[in-house]
Amino acid sequence: MRRFLLWCAQNRWLATHVPRWRFARRAVKRFLPGEGFDAALTAAADFRTRRIGAIFTLLGENITDLADANRVVEHYEEVLAASTQVQAEISVKPTQLGLDIDEDATYANLQRLARAAAKARSFMWVDMEGSPYTDRTLALYKRLRREDLQAGVALQAYLHRTVGDVAELMPLKPAIRLVKGAYAEPPEIAFTAKKDVDANYLALCAYMLPEVKHRRMRLVLGTHDTDLFAKAWRFAQAAGLEMSRMEIAMLYGIRTDQQMRLAREGFTVRDLVAYGDAWYGWYLRRLAERPANVWFVARQLLP
Ligand SMILES: Cc1cc2nc3c(=O)[nH]c(=O)nc-3n(C[C@H](O)[C@H](O)[C@H](O)COP(=O)(O)OP(=O)(O)OC[C@H]3O[C@@H](n4cnc5c(N)ncnc54)[C@H](O)[C@@H]3O)c2cc1C
Repeated sequence: MRRFLLWCAQNRWLATHVPRWRFARRAVKRFLPGEGFDAALTAAADFRTRRIGAIFTLLGENITDLADANRVVEHYEEVLAASTQVQAEISVKPTQLGLDIDEDATYANLQRLARAAAKARSFMWVDMEGSPYTDRTLALYKRLRREDLQAGVALQAYLHRTVGDVAELMPLKPAIRLVKGAYAEPPEIAFTAKKDVDANYLALCAYMLPEVKHRRMRLVLGTHDTDLFAKAWRFAQAAGLEMSRMEIAMLYGIRTDQQMRLAREGFTVRDLVAYGDAWYGWYLRRLAERPANVWFVARQLLP
């Protein structure tokens, strides 16, 4: 089911047609506060009252015209200016900023956004997409850090290479959002069994948490797996890390009760709020993470 859903995520015909189906639009509402940025801002203000921060992400990927990338940059600049009240961060996709077209232009876009984020006292995260983009995304991130621009990058625990990537990034005092990984990757380069992905995730946490303690990096655990988070917290405690510096981020609409519990307990919690109309690929990856959600979609077909 996971592979099938990830295949659907890449299918062009489905990407054009499914977003027009009313039942699909109804089902997607569970993971989006709304298509417009206003809805995301309202959700972030609500989270703030519960001590949960927000990360905004405009849906969209693989743009084919640099003018579209420029519009995305301008949009995020407006978002950063409008969201100082809620102290939100942003998370951007390299292929939405032009990576399929021109690497230098993509870098210029990232540079512009990292500067705008710093000016707004915010922070920019760079999402990690499928493995054809890993090297180029990391190269862009390293350029940002060598220029001393504040930014973070997502790394995927399902990739065999990730431990090496962490080691290479460490001298640059990185900010890393550790996720399990959301794309269909072959067994030659990625762990495919959940238990192996989880074991690698935890090993990476054990490696990085002492570095967080010594302020040589920032680490955010991007996961809904609260058992894994609890295990990582034990490593953090052994390293002497304070609770408020143990950071977790989850997606809007998923395990909100756990987000609130962790925030109440004193961890730093952020909710990644996605919005926009280009939700098709993103939404299919959410379904693939938990195929039981497909039944939720099926129920929307009923009157
Ligand atoms: C803040 C954030 C940023 C991310 N950024 C990236 C990125 O840049 N690149 C990338 O490849 N991936 C990214 N991901 C997705 C990530 O790689 C995983 O695919 C996703 O988080 C599911 O894995 P999990 O860690 O939640 O663990 P899982 O083992 O999949 O899930 C743990 C538990 O969480 C619940 N759960 C998980 N997913 C769902 C869901 N969709 N619906 C309902 N319940 C669910 C279930 O109860 C499940 O038992 C991001 C995830 C988060 C939270």
